[in-house]
Amino acid sequence: MMRDTRSQFRPADHPNKHFILTTVVGSYPKPKWLNQARESYHILSNKDSRRQYNEAKNDASTIIIKEHEEAGLDVVVDGEMKRNEMVEYFAERIRGYEFNGPVKVWGHNYFDKPSVVEKVSYREPWLLEEYKYNVKIANRPIKVPITGPYTLANWSFNEYYEDEKELSYELAELVNIEIKNLVDAGVRYIQIDEPALATTPEDHKVVRKCLEKITRGIADNIRIGLHVCYGDYSRIFPKILDFPVDEFDVELANGNYSQLEVFKKVPFTKDIGFGVIDVHDSRIESVEEVRERILKGLEVVPPDRLTVSPDCGLKLLSREVAYKKMVNMVKATRLVEEELDRGEIEL
Ligand SMILES: [Zn+2]
Repeated sequence: MMRDTRSQFRPADHPNKHFILTTVVGSYPKPKWLNQARESYHILSNKDSRRQYNEAKNDASTIIIKEHEEAGLDVVVDGEMKRNEMVEYFAERIRGYEFNGPVKVWGHNYFDKPSVVEKVSYREPWLLEEYKYNVKIANRPIKVPITGPYTLANWSFNEYYEDEKELSYELAELVNIEIKNLVDAGVRYIQIDEPALATTPEDHKVVRKCLEKITRGIADNIRIGLHVCYGDYSRIFPKILDFPVDEFDVELANGNYSQLEVFKKVPFTKDIGFGVIDVHDSRIESVEEVRERILKGLEVVPPDRLTVSPDCGLKLLSREVAYKKMVNMVKATRLVEEELDRGEIEL
């Protein structure tokens, strides 16, 4: 019998017998005024500009949570309004990291790639403040996305550890401490983001061992998801079915479901976070279109193991487009639930 970490997120007023969980991956477009407040703070760097930037960050989190609730999502996030990049944010809070300025990653894009120069250790909570603020605002359960240790290691310069694997394991211990702190504060849904696994699938055993460290001592009712996007899933599936996570979250809409067959080769014995919204396309998918995509998800898992979600973070879209995409995603999900209730969909 699989453990059930999902039903706790079913809203009390949920209208349908069947329940398909809806959520988003994490990042969301930042309001323009938040970016302006950040720039002012970086230029002026004084007490006033810092206070204004902090206020802007809180306001942005509030608005995005409300937008997610308004769209009808069952589980919300704050769109990572308080985080800069997905490695930088965490590296700034981990002892052992050092920043030496941006490096060119592709085209004209720069990334402040940090270096590990000494043993990494847990200096301060990473996301506790973010969560404590959000939980006061939200009327729906909150998911907390965390960049996984393998990606943190893979996207850093390693100047101290024997190899990247050793660094990943050390960082996994820190993620475990962080999750324990978050769970103590009330978090019930954690998502580990490991996009680096998509580009180096041969390291699936390293990621698995990291997840074992991450989830050690975490209570059974805590839902753990793993998000991996933009890669060849046949390189990691079905291996990932042994990972100690409840949900495997994948991007599929962008590739027009060409990888769907990969997940049908053996029974998918976990929940699937099924990407139904293309985050690289500003065209808003219609409710009917999203409905068709959700039905593809039902070819892989039954409704009570299906999580409907965009492919990846929505941050590259405009806010208006991101919002409309979420609205249609939720509408389509509720429509499919009704059809399931009426027995109109054959499973
Ligand atoms: Zn992603």
